[in-house]
Amino acid sequence: MKLEKSKALFEEAQKYLVKGVNSPVRYFKPYPFFVQKAKDCYLFDVDGNKYIDYCLAYGPMVLGHANEAIINAVKEQLELGTAYGCPTEKEIILAKEVINRVPCAEMVRFVNSGTEATMSAIRLARGVTGRKKIIKFDGAYHGAHDYVLVKSGSGALTHGTPNSPGIPEETTKNTILVPFNDEEAIEKVIKDNKDEIACLIVEPVMGNVGCILPKEGYLKFLREITEENGIILIFDEVITGFRLAKGGAQEYYGVIPDLATLGKILGGGFPIGAIVGKKEIMEQMSPSGPIYQAGTFNGNPVSITAGIETLKQLDDKFYKETTKTAEKLANCLREVSERYNIPAKVYNIASMFQIYFNDKEVLNYEIAKQSDTERFMKYFWNLLENGVFVPPSQFECCFTSIKHNDEVVEKTMNAIEEAFKNLE
Ligand SMILES: *Cc1c(COP(=O)(O)O)cnc(C)c1O
Repeated sequence: MKLEKSKALFEEAQKYLVKGVNSPVRYFKPYPFFVQKAKDCYLFDVDGNKYIDYCLAYGPMVLGHANEAIINAVKEQLELGTAYGCPTEKEIILAKEVINRVPCAEMVRFVNSGTEATMSAIRLARGVTGRKKIIKFDGAYHGAHDYVLVKSGSGALTHGTPNSPGIPEETTKNTILVPFNDEEAIEKVIKDNKDEIACLIVEPVMGNVGCILPKEGYLKFLREITEENGIILIFDEVITGFRLAKGGAQEYYGVIPDLATLGKILGGGFPIGAIVGKKEIMEQMSPSGPIYQAGTFNGNPVSITAGIETLKQLDDKFYKETTKTAEKLANCLREVSERYNIPAKVYNIASMFQIYFNDKEVLNYEIAKQSDTERFMKYFWNLLENGVFVPPSQFECCFTSIKHNDEVVEKTMNAIEEAFKNLE
């Protein structure tokens, strides 16, 4: 595989951009490929290589790249202006769509990223309850802000800094960590911190330490125990929203949180985030309430337009097909790893899947961390050489789009076979 132009661009980029990238997960050793363009399920790099893309920009591109309807609608919007600092009718249209789909959503505040959404949702929960402490799961990733960058997943874990320097302990001493899928741990911290916990924030399916599923009944347990203790339950559905089902994980599992955070898919490839939830809580936000939240680009008309066009295309067929594709690939990984006698556990749900090079069932962060990350990177490179791009980390999740058709899946399965042939 030729990567000469990428190598040269990386050397140039490193002079001006931190490690040549603008977000940590994008860097991998010895250097990442640089993208020229993308279409449907393919990425094309500057050296002329073509990859089947299962990273999909870390989640948003569920309709594939350069979706025609989104492009046309955005083009029209560009001519009409790109930021107004005034409300628009389109914000109502998208808010209504979100409310129709997402069970807990009675009102919406659009922001610019998932990070902003979780930051504001936590502030809202603290403001409403008058309590300081929050509960977060080991390995959960809720964006790159101070309160939640403790034992964090995604790039923080991949690059070995799940606790970031630069965050005062005064900030994180109010963040209580618990292992996922463990009922007793939650019971204990709630008992030990009675009437002090504002919220519990959870990724219903953990998508930033690979793909960890909740045990049966676990989310329902979280709903009950938070309700009993006056704790606001926040589902961070930045990955699972509009993905697990039309209404996200809360619809899929039939568990309704008080608040939810959305992002990624909602922007159709443009920056967006949203806080949604019960009216009585949402109305505590400024300007109707005292809890401050604001943004120059909140509800940006370009992102909102792309969001509207995206949700229109997420119909029953979309969920059926993307689920089927992820299932096929997960089954292929199970079969091939067994045949090559490589210890592995594979998980999939809806359009998400991941393989762990680990012989134990992966139920939480501690077990996920014991996976063979070196073997994962070999697997990653072997796949890349065979024209398949998965996220370059054991602790990310693969995604399927509506554009990954049978022929693409067939090619991918052949690449997986080739990748395992050379996997020690
Ligand atoms: C990606 C992600 C975020 C952060 O969203 P950004 O748009 O990258 O700020 C938050 N929570 C979860 C679960 C995510 O996967």
